[in-house]
Amino acid sequence: MTTHRTRMLIIGSGPAGYSAAIYGARAGMEPIVVQGLQPGGQLTITTDVENYPGFADVIQGPWLMEQMQAQAEHVGTRMMWDTIVEVDLDGGSPFRAIGDSGDEYVGDVLVIATGAQAKWLGVPGEQELGGKGVSACATCDGFFYRGRKVAVIGGGNTAVEEALYLTNHSDDVTLIHRRDELRSEKILQERLFKSDKISTLWNKTVERFVAGENGALAKLELVDTVTGEKSELAVDGAFVAIGHAPSTELFKGKLPMDDGGYLLVEPGTPKTAIPGVFACGDVMDHTYRQAVTAAGTGCMAALDAERFLATLEFAEKEAAE
Ligand code: NDP
Repeated sequence: MTTHRTRMLIIGSGPAGYSAAIYGARAGMEPIVVQGLQPGGQLTITTDVENYPGFADVIQGPWLMEQMQAQAEHVGTRMMWDTIVEVDLDGGSPFRAIGDSGDEYVGDVLVIATGAQAKWLGVPGEQELGGKGVSACATCDGFFYRGRKVAVIGGGNTAVEEALYLTNHSDDVTLIHRRDELRSEKILQERLFKSDKISTLWNKTVERFVAGENGALAKLELVDTVTGEKSELAVDGAFVAIGHAPSTELFKGKLPMDDGGYLLVEPGTPKTAIPGVFACGDVMDHTYRQAVTAAGTGCMAALDAERFLATLEFAEKEAAE
């Protein structure tokens, strides 16, 4: 077991974690980023990004994250290919964390940027057919359904984007939504309704994912949310796009959370209930959840971390005199 000591320990490697690292490194805090299971975070499983400021042309999500990582490294961040499995926040700063590798990480401040992950419907067949027709990422798996019939479940930005993306591979895409109105941005809705490759099924939920003789997904059993009427839809692929849940399992019982499991912070700041522990990005933001807002709160976490350390060091100096 190796112990890695730093002034600033960052858990998570999306836009929030990398932005905290960039600011932290430039402030001399020599950050360590423990990257987790999905280095780069959710943007690594998207394609086109056209709403991150600074790029007049469309850029790719994975490329953007590579750039952020490289930028953080160039200014002095240490990247660790490890996943934190345990944290000890008792007793205040310094904070300790244990990695899957068995290594220990100790930081005078802790920045939590663990993000969020896709939600599942939790209905029969969904888990069993994961990777055999059922997926939560069209940009990762859409390619496998070239020329085949696919469905997307959900009515938010993710669902509409996934449906539009799938038209690159399939001429037969069905969007299934539990209401008769989408919650996605109007510009995306316009693109969706304009596409002659996408049809919509309103007021329907999936009750069961059903396999065919080959063991792969063959159809969806649907129920109408208004009439209760049952129906079926034959598909080769189904993409669940019903939102995300924050990755906060590690902090249960250690930090206050809301009912959805999002970390609670002092309003308008990234400060958690424990001085020296900061939360930024999707793990504390269920409202905006954008790369640019995650990056913004990552920056705020680093600035507040710097202030916290300055106060801590001042107090230590006073005590020593
Ligand atoms: P959202 O929470 O916005 O939407 C989830 C959708 O899934 C809703 O339409 C919801 O229905 C539906 N849903 C939820 N649970 C179920 C269920 N059990 N059964 C059936 N349907 C269900 O999540 P998104 O992932 O779409 O977006 C998350 C955030 O990320 C948003 O703020 C979004 O704007 C942002 N985003 C931005 C993008 C961009 O700017 N390019 C791209 C992707 C996401 P209902 O409407 O009835 O609640």
